[in-house]
Amino acid sequence: MAALFRSIRIVALLALCAGPLAAQQWLNAEPNPKTNKSNFRAIEELPSPNEMRTASGAPGPRYWQQRVDYSIKASLDTTIHTVTGSERVTYHNNSPDRLDYLWFQLDQNIDDPTVSRAIRDAAALPKQISPQARRFLLPEPFDGGHKITRVQLVTTRGRVVQKTDVPYSINGTEMKVTLPAPLASGAKVAVEIDWHFIVPETSRNGRGAREKVKDGWLYEMAQWFPRASVYDDVNGWQTDQFYGQGEFYLNFGTYDVELTVPHDHIVQATGVLTNPLAVLTATQRQRLAQALTSETPKFIITKDEVMTPGTRPAGSGPLTWKFHADSVRDFAFVSSKTLVWDAAGYRYRPGSRVIEMHSLYPRDAMPLWDSVSTRAIAQTMRTYGRLAFEYPYPKASNIHGPVFGMEYPMIAFCGARPAADGSYTPQLARALISVTIHEVGHNWFPMIVASDERKWTWMDEGLNSFLQYYAEKEWDPAYPSNRGPAKNIVPYMKDADQVPIMTESDYIHRQFGNNGYGKPAAGLVMLREQVVGPRLFDEAFASYSKRWAFKHPQPGDFFRSMDDGAGELLNWFWRGWFYTTYANDQAVTSVEAQPADSLVGNSARGKNYYRITVENKGGLLMPVQMQISYDDGSSELVKLGANVWRRNELSYIYGFFTDKTVVKVVLDPDEVFADVNRDNNSWSAGPAPTS
Ligand SMILES: [Zn+2]
Repeated sequence: MAALFRSIRIVALLALCAGPLAAQQWLNAEPNPKTNKSNFRAIEELPSPNEMRTASGAPGPRYWQQRVDYSIKASLDTTIHTVTGSERVTYHNNSPDRLDYLWFQLDQNIDDPTVSRAIRDAAALPKQISPQARRFLLPEPFDGGHKITRVQLVTTRGRVVQKTDVPYSINGTEMKVTLPAPLASGAKVAVEIDWHFIVPETSRNGRGAREKVKDGWLYEMAQWFPRASVYDDVNGWQTDQFYGQGEFYLNFGTYDVELTVPHDHIVQATGVLTNPLAVLTATQRQRLAQALTSETPKFIITKDEVMTPGTRPAGSGPLTWKFHADSVRDFAFVSSKTLVWDAAGYRYRPGSRVIEMHSLYPRDAMPLWDSVSTRAIAQTMRTYGRLAFEYPYPKASNIHGPVFGMEYPMIAFCGARPAADGSYTPQLARALISVTIHEVGHNWFPMIVASDERKWTWMDEGLNSFLQYYAEKEWDPAYPSNRGPAKNIVPYMKDADQVPIMTESDYIHRQFGNNGYGKPAAGLVMLREQVVGPRLFDEAFASYSKRWAFKHPQPGDFFRSMDDGAGELLNWFWRGWFYTTYANDQAVTSVEAQPADSLVGNSARGKNYYRITVENKGGLLMPVQMQISYDDGSSELVKLGANVWRRNELSYIYGFFTDKTVVKVVLDPDEVFADVNRDNNSWSAGPAPTS
């Protein structure tokens, strides 16, 4: 998702606990070259490699994962804002284990008044909260949550289908369905579940919600049906509760979903529409076919056509929209009568398959959305396609509504909206570009490279923010990217109360956006541009992405894949940047010269020998770059690797011969290493002595 609403919460909390930051904690770093606690050492926290996950970071020969297929029929009642659904879940046990029960995620239960106190953070409110923060910190109570009305096991013998009730129990947002007989390894089971829930108003958790826009209600439906939890080789059943911050972790499978909505609604969803004849007019089908022939967006429903009878097939009753999706881990949709719709087609090469790109938005979102959204989807296809892998799905949509920024397979929600009079600032336009790239980009991480995002925020948000930075640069080389440049993470690196990136999502207690998005993105940019180099980095990164596409990587799989592909052990970097809160503070503490011939007998290598002492005051190991300026007006940029700290992590002396006289030394002159204290980065020769 996009981290804005988290930062709203954080602003509110900061208002409560603002005060001088504690003493600069990074000064307590204790890299000790005299013990075996070298920060270059192997990372003890990494699990041992095994036949599921190899030492090279790839899936092993015995890697397995579960498969879960869904067939869902649901209807939306707009008079009582309720979704009622019935699903058949076919669970394939590919694990080597026998399963006595299945777990399901009931994320809507975060709004169930009978369980919400146990789930929601009931901490006392700050003394002042902004109206935006109020809906997160103090949401209106309502009768939310998944109401489960039927859970049955389906057995088929020949033509006889038998359905029998099975016991289930609910713990917060998790539901356990106990099987009458254990599910053997390699076997499958079908379970049917009926449920309904009231759609919450506004974006209470930054996920699905309904909103009354100018023309009427708009429903962005997400985390809306009981979804099987993941059983894997690392967690067994991953039963982490949904507290609202940690996103979700789901299985791949096939989805067939039938959505019955009011006649005047337009629906867009995960998957391909399989019954366009029933729900689109002949004009719309023609326009769509035409739109997909080029990357230039064309309207399927114009602003002036919204809610006119001609935009809907003849008749009056509810219409059922049918979608099919393969190899997806979730399903989301939008339904509303208020939607303008533009579309275009993307091709990686002339003549290659067409990827459908759709943008749907109420008139409130114009004039901005029609000129930006679909183009930003195309930019995402281009950049992510090059740096990770080509988009494998047949379509990608971007939807405007109450959710500020959230991602699901093939469909993204983005809330950037012009003012009521249609005006917008350059910042708002950039919010739409950035959030669209970000949420569409999430198709790669974590919708396809399907990490456990309820635990590890950085594995999807960090990697995604990293690629987002390059997509923004390609959109406009002068784009003022927020996340990616090392400089922009400096204020966070000074935060004495931060936690390591390797902290499970629900326990990142402050600065969630900087921790899970900004710092990993800045670190990967640093690694690419300054440490490994773009060519090898890109090969390693693409290799990780392809190895784990449609699979479930863990943190160690990423670190190992990158080491493997980059051709060097990056333990010092992973440890420092991901496992600690050390900051980079390099200081130039002395510059000494001696006549060269006193060292080597002749001055063939230069008249002077210089020693420049650089001290590591922050604990974080980083390469050393210094701009050395000479008395003749020339200067050079010296780039040294982090390996200079191997023998002594606190102090390093760089030595060199020169005929010239050094007049100035500046560490990290291009601000590419997030040095938190630049006051000690420079040394200048005093004024020349007067004779
Ligand atoms: Zn995100």
